[in-house]
Amino acid sequence: MRQYWAAKRSHPDAIVLFRLGDFFEIFFEDAVAAAPIMGVTLTSRPATGGRMPMCGVPHHSWQAYAGKLLRAGRKVVVCDQVDAAGGKSLLRREVTRVLTPGTVVEDEYLEPGKSNWLVAAWARSGRAGLAACDVSTGELQMCELAAERLPAELLRLSPSEVLTPPQIEEYRFDPERGRRTLAELLGIQYPASIGAQAAPLGVGAAGVLLEYLKQNGIRLEVGTLRVRTYSPDQVMPLDGATIRNLELGALFALLDRTLTPMGARLLRGWLWAPLCDLETIELRLGAVAELRNERESLRQALVPIGDLERLTSRAIQALATPRELVSLRRAIEALPEVARSAAQASTPGLTRWAAMIEPLPELCEQLKRAIVDDPPAVARAGGFIRPGFDPALDGILEASKEARAWIAGLEAEERQRTGIKNLKVGYNRVFGYYIEIANQNTGLAPDHYIRKQTLAGGERYLTPELKENEAIVLNAEQHRISRELELLRSLLDEITDAAAALRSTAQALAELDTLSSLAEAAEELGWTRPRVLSNLGLAISAGRHPLVEAAVSVGDFVTNDVDLGLDGTRMVILTGPNMAGKSTYLRQVALIVLLAQCGSFVPAASAEIGIVDRIFTRVGAHDDLAAGMSTFMVEMTETASMLNQATPASLLIFDEVGRGTSTYDGLSIAQAVVEYIHDSSRLGCRTLFATHYHELTALADRLPGVKNQRVEVLEEGDTVRFLHRVVPGGADRSYGIHVAALAGLPSAVVARARQILGELEAQRPLEAPEHQLGLPFAPPGDPLASEIEALELDRLTPLEALQKLYEIRSQLGRRP
Ligand code: ADP
Ligand code: MG
Repeated sequence: MRQYWAAKRSHPDAIVLFRLGDFFEIFFEDAVAAAPIMGVTLTSRPATGGRMPMCGVPHHSWQAYAGKLLRAGRKVVVCDQVDAAGGKSLLRREVTRVLTPGTVVEDEYLEPGKSNWLVAAWARSGRAGLAACDVSTGELQMCELAAERLPAELLRLSPSEVLTPPQIEEYRFDPERGRRTLAELLGIQYPASIGAQAAPLGVGAAGVLLEYLKQNGIRLEVGTLRVRTYSPDQVMPLDGATIRNLELGALFALLDRTLTPMGARLLRGWLWAPLCDLETIELRLGAVAELRNERESLRQALVPIGDLERLTSRAIQALATPRELVSLRRAIEALPEVARSAAQASTPGLTRWAAMIEPLPELCEQLKRAIVDDPPAVARAGGFIRPGFDPALDGILEASKEARAWIAGLEAEERQRTGIKNLKVGYNRVFGYYIEIANQNTGLAPDHYIRKQTLAGGERYLTPELKENEAIVLNAEQHRISRELELLRSLLDEITDAAAALRSTAQALAELDTLSSLAEAAEELGWTRPRVLSNLGLAISAGRHPLVEAAVSVGDFVTNDVDLGLDGTRMVILTGPNMAGKSTYLRQVALIVLLAQCGSFVPAASAEIGIVDRIFTRVGAHDDLAAGMSTFMVEMTETASMLNQATPASLLIFDEVGRGTSTYDGLSIAQAVVEYIHDSSRLGCRTLFATHYHELTALADRLPGVKNQRVEVLEEGDTVRFLHRVVPGGADRSYGIHVAALAGLPSAVVARARQILGELEAQRPLEAPEHQLGLPFAPPGDPLASEIEALELDRLTPLEALQKLYEIRSQLGRRP
């Protein structure tokens, strides 16, 4: 228990896995918390002052259970035996591994196609500093940004672990302290050398992050991490609603044709962070264009690469297994071929990456000479160094060769000498080598055999000579293993020395893989190169929604155009019945813009896109019950944040906003939002506004920047046919009852609905929206109404309000 408490005290926030015999045991509150997460039974054992809760997992499968704890966001400390078993004295146990969700590098705990970010972030007087590190890929990025952009940046990174005040004391974020930590742990003497001179808050965050890594046993040295400072303004922040509405996950799945996990991670990173900087977009587009014509040899060459990036990290952290070193060697072997095919490229968007590949032939040769082709999965028992690689190791094996040969020949020799046909020579971990004779023959055992163990069916013996030879063999075995482990460590050091080259090579491969994946997708899906411009226009002809197109039958998707901005109209009010294709149209415009700014080709015959600084999408009547907000509240909160953050260069997509409340409320809000965007000098941005309130079409007459479009439907008697074609002009009716009929509502219900609609329209003919919205609450001059109007609702306590309500009711009787 003393050993246990020592481990627990050094990591009070972690769940301690404590080795006892063949199990890793977990005690006390740790056990209570961990058992349900791991899906094992919670037991207890007597202890001073009551019973001690505990649970355990078999020692050979602890990693699977640690994975479950990590995924649940817990930190795990492994406290293992460090002495060899056998002696009588107490075994020494020490913390051998600290695992946290954001610092793991083993494949068991990671998803191949996803980065695993550990983030440190803090804010001070309106500014924020952020540092993000993926230890498994060796990237460390930092930035300073406006505090209100921090949430979007965190959303983009979707970190596994976040270090932030108040859990981390604020003084640790001090930029000066961060500067010292960068110098001390990574040898970066001046923030300017990594472009961080203007990002002191980011440097402070990086300091916290590095200290945390160090504390958790991550090896940090010059070159072990690829450090860069980035400017968040170069990418478009996407909010949660937009990521959800545009279904980026599904878009990634449709687009992903990467051949390495590094490429898959990068492609995901690109989609979640469209660029705002024309030059970089052009570099990517140029590269995709060239690869679209010529990519076969490059893609062939990328296949055997695998996850060079994560293999390198595991080697640096001294956690790579011999098998992983073989994978690393195979990846390095494949580099010259990738370099050769990449070198044929001519666009700057490719040549810059091609030039970054370093083939590393010496390291490759060294790994090949050192490690056998098919080594065991774990290093512990040796057996992975190739004979001939190390004279010392060969010497150890040579010295014990005679003894091994003697033991190997013993069985045959003793059978002959004693005449016992079924005499056997065997080995087990407890007794070592022995001679075994079955019961019916034990009488024939020679005198010099020393009886050692009695079994049900026979006896086991030793001889002094066997003992002697055994000692030589076992001794040699121990020497061999420790020599092999020593050689493994020095190989890992050699890899660490080449870390910088491996890191930049891996980055270049990821870029080439991602670009070639975009090219492959562009060709297979029939996409074209967009023109990205620095104006406020948006013109797409024959655009398609990539996901809807993939879902409908081939050739059934109806393409549509959009033309905004340059002719003075910036806003489209799109009307049409339910199921006509409004949502599809809106999203396809947003997706085409997003794809173009990621550097991808787009699903359209042609697209001219004035660079967009942010895409906002708002969808009405969307429930977010998990967050505890009502439908309508979510809709309004999202709309508010959009109106506050948008700029003239933004693209706004509204899909049925205002639907989550009564018709008149909804219509009023929708109209007010359109007017506000149109009139505000701070906005006036490109906007698509889909609504089933066909009354809103009247706005186009009044607001010069607004035009109407509708999705065409064909009325065929009592029913309608959806053409999915977007044409100029507004819809004059909702076709709600037609759609209801189409959906199979009983014909009696449909007929009755028609009848009611007729009556309603007769009572209150359709008016211009302005009039409709001014619904009088009561005839003017009603004293009760004026009294209610005069109430200062915000100042009333609930009790006073109730009181007032009673008063009002009593007055009702006395009304004129
Ligand atoms: P709305 O928002 O007007 O109710 P949606 O955009 O949700 O309509 O579209 C409803 C369905 O119509 C889609 O799921 C899709 O199957 C089909 N659809 C929409 N647009 C098109 C199109 N351009 N071409 C073919 N089918 C389409
Ligand atoms: Mg819709």
